[in-house]
Amino acid sequence: MELYELSIGTLQGLLASQDVSAVELTSAVLNRIAAVEERVGAFITRADEQVMIAQAEAADIRWREGRGGLLCGIPVSLKDVLCTKGLRTTCGSRILDSFVPPYDATVSEKLKTAGAVVVGKVSMDEFAMGSSNENCAFGVPHNPWNLDHVCGGSSGGSAASVAAAEAIASVGSDTGGSIRQPASYCGVVGLKPTYGRVSRFGLVAYASSLDQLGPLTRDVTDCAIMLNVMAGYDPRDSTSVERPVPDYRTSLVAGLKGMRIGVPREYFAEGLDADVEQAVRQGIRALEGAGATVVDVSLPRTPYGVAAYYIIASAEASSNLARYDGVRYGFRDKEASALLEMYRQTRSQGFGPEVKRRIIIGTYALSSGYYDAYYKKASQVRTLIADDFRLAFADCDVLVSPVTPTPAWRLGEKLADPLSMYLSDILTIPTNLAGLPGMSVPCGFSKSGMPIGLQLQADHFAEEKLLCVAYNLEKELALPARKPAGLEDN
Ligand code: GLN
Repeated sequence: MELYELSIGTLQGLLASQDVSAVELTSAVLNRIAAVEERVGAFITRADEQVMIAQAEAADIRWREGRGGLLCGIPVSLKDVLCTKGLRTTCGSRILDSFVPPYDATVSEKLKTAGAVVVGKVSMDEFAMGSSNENCAFGVPHNPWNLDHVCGGSSGGSAASVAAAEAIASVGSDTGGSIRQPASYCGVVGLKPTYGRVSRFGLVAYASSLDQLGPLTRDVTDCAIMLNVMAGYDPRDSTSVERPVPDYRTSLVAGLKGMRIGVPREYFAEGLDADVEQAVRQGIRALEGAGATVVDVSLPRTPYGVAAYYIIASAEASSNLARYDGVRYGFRDKEASALLEMYRQTRSQGFGPEVKRRIIIGTYALSSGYYDAYYKKASQVRTLIADDFRLAFADCDVLVSPVTPTPAWRLGEKLADPLSMYLSDILTIPTNLAGLPGMSVPCGFSKSGMPIGLQLQADHFAEEKLLCVAYNLEKELALPARKPAGLEDN
């Protein structure tokens, strides 16, 4: 195996023993990017190579002095929704085309402090609105398993960069499924933590009551390592929770004895692809074989999640995106001669069609006379969905289901039909509405060779249970190492 294909867990050992240097590793990743990026298109902005090598040299010094650590010298990519001091942050939008943040997001800062080497800012749907990463002003990434297919979204660049081995790990954000769905489509592990577990300071806001940052990695151990570094209270984010961060790696080795796995019957409804169902059921059998008890549970309000989500998320987006007026950030139309005209032109040219659609839906849903019928009703449905989970977790520890009804589809296939695109989030949205942690773990492949993920959901702050089940699943399934077929000649 090549250096760039290894996991953080393995690389840590090699870096600690100084069998491999961070500079060698970083150079290997840079060469890999040079070889495949033209076909994958995962990056919006690449980091300066000299800066990367300098970070790697600093990491090597730390290892030599015995001050290495969890991520010291590990090349990571960051979704372009995270502010990075001095490194362009576009959010996939023309309106932030030239925005260079003067500060680091807390997560960017934590990763850098841990010694990670930031390889660049990766592709995403504009303002994280989308499920295929086709709503990006800077090109569309291709799925490394089949270059004619979508990577999923909105953290498509994060998933693609890890799958194509252009980064060892990545950070994404998940508002309605944006970490788990692309992780599932690209055959990597993705975890959306509990709302409040990871600081959102410096994360460009989409829907603030739902957004959460999390890792995308090669395996479950790497996911625990990334979460160790990312999690924790931050006085700069009032929604982050003051609660100790366990060493998530210790939860991996616990067995499944006594673990109750709930299978929500509504998640196996009509429209579920046969290959997805088969792979997920096989995963459930593997967990049962490893000692877990499988129970049937019901989450009856699941079908209402998508409608409630698209009202709440759009309403919050319409408010959050009001700040892009051409005055303080990024793009401004220079032709307009009056203030209102400048606002109108800046926003008309700066935002793409999906973002405009959400702003219009959100503004309508919040307008006086409609507020009760839409926003208030959606908030009530949200509470009912959270109640469903509460009842289910009285009877089980972790819920197991598909992540999405189908594997990745062909590029362009759903672009003309936003509703069918929105429906692809039906199984991931409820997690966000309830603020729960959720995860996607690879569990097989479709007949046409596209990866399939299995979703795990747990109660608030029960990431340790998620990781324990995920780790056991990974061990039991022991999927043979496969290279992404779309890049086979590499
Ligand atoms: N696909 C969903 C949307 O378009 C979720 C996106 C996300 O989680 N950021 O809003």
